[in-house]
Amino acid sequence: MSDSPLLIPTRTLPEGKIFTRSFTGRFRNLRLLGAGFLALLFFGTSWVNWNGHQAILWDLDTRQFHVFGTTFWPQDFMLLSFAMIIGALLLFAVTMLAGRVWCGYTCPQSVWTWAFMWAENITEGDRNQRIKLQQAPWDANKLFKRSSKHVLWIVMSLATGIAFVGYFVPVRELVHNLAQFEWLSNSAIWVGIVAALTYMNAGWVREKVCVHMCPYARFQSVMFDRNTLVIAYDAARGDTRGSRKKIDDHKALGLGDCIDCYMCVQVCPTGIDIRDGLQMDCIGCAACIDACDDVMDKMGYERGLVSYTSEAALAGEPQKILRPRLLGYGAIIAVMLAALFMSLNARELVDLSVVKDRSVIYRHTSDGNILNVYRLKVTNKTQHPARYTLQLHNAQSLSLSRAHQFTLKAGEIYDFPVTVKMPSSLHQAAGMIHFDFELVNDSTPHLPNREAANFMYPAQ
Ligand code: SF4
Ligand code: SF4
Repeated sequence: MSDSPLLIPTRTLPEGKIFTRSFTGRFRNLRLLGAGFLALLFFGTSWVNWNGHQAILWDLDTRQFHVFGTTFWPQDFMLLSFAMIIGALLLFAVTMLAGRVWCGYTCPQSVWTWAFMWAENITEGDRNQRIKLQQAPWDANKLFKRSSKHVLWIVMSLATGIAFVGYFVPVRELVHNLAQFEWLSNSAIWVGIVAALTYMNAGWVREKVCVHMCPYARFQSVMFDRNTLVIAYDAARGDTRGSRKKIDDHKALGLGDCIDCYMCVQVCPTGIDIRDGLQMDCIGCAACIDACDDVMDKMGYERGLVSYTSEAALAGEPQKILRPRLLGYGAIIAVMLAALFMSLNARELVDLSVVKDRSVIYRHTSDGNILNVYRLKVTNKTQHPARYTLQLHNAQSLSLSRAHQFTLKAGEIYDFPVTVKMPSSLHQAAGMIHFDFELVNDSTPHLPNREAANFMYPAQ
């Protein structure tokens, strides 16, 4: 449970469905802008081509991850894990600085829920109309409105399913196949599964995901400190609450600025009353700020009765932005980012593996040579064809029994035997020579790829 005195335990949500009221305001506009941009990225990026390939594609068949001209192979997945750890640390730092902005503005669960609420609003009407519709008996009007909403939800869910699966199979091929009614393929079934989950989560389960299922909501309180931005009601200014006329001198009536209109509760997607204090159910969407600011404008009061603030600010202390823990996060993230970029830069674009043939350790030839046989596997990890030359490095008296020059297509793997020879007259006693196989990309000869190997020979 929370260490922060500001966070009170999760309270029981109101029974039944939450009917949110639509509203306008600066934070709603900010969310629309951020969510719109992210939705554009999500739906649009898979359609972007780069060097003739889909720019971002996680090809599960070949286990290759293509990102704007770079291909990551299973051997590179450590780098992706590293990038994900940096992302998690970034989320911790942002949470410490600005609370649950991720949840309120950019989390897919919130963004899709707001989009589904918009669909609900344009088909069934605003809050009061939806409450009436809920209570009304089934007739043609109710059937029409409900079906329109579900049709819109299903279209949005299918679009989400296609966009999501389009990052794992080529999106153009996927859409073409779906248009040809190939609905029983694996990818079509996955589109159905993702669409069904979207429909369930954004249409039905909604805030319960944030309140009961999301692990981030459980541990976010440990990232908060007294200076973390939270959304809070200013009780000192707002209480005593009560209704009044605009022309009334409410202070003379012993009232605070809160007119007890419940607008902040009616717009809340998790159905809580921010005036009860900051709760774990609060996803930091700032809808209550917009709603209350609107009320304050109408009453002619100063905005900010519900606002972004911090525990320190509420206690009258100066707000501290740069705190030691935050600086610590910043330093760790900077070091990890530098390490990630250096690793990306040093990443080998060809993979060379060598296995010695262990069935015959060495062989004599009639022309006085000793042979060792190896199995080499070369993988072109780039998105372009490349021509390679194989040679030996630090090889002393060793040489290849024949030249090896070959061209590999993008992503191609070449598995082939290589024989290395040595004149048998050179050594009297048995021994071993350590050497490297050296693979040179003809277009970048200054960056050879080397792999160590041993050559074994017997006594004469
Ligand atoms: S919207 Fe503002 S004035 Fe209305 S109940 Fe909420 S806090 Fe009070
Ligand atoms: S209390 Fe306010 S900020 Fe929190 S979830 Fe409800 S509307 Fe959003």
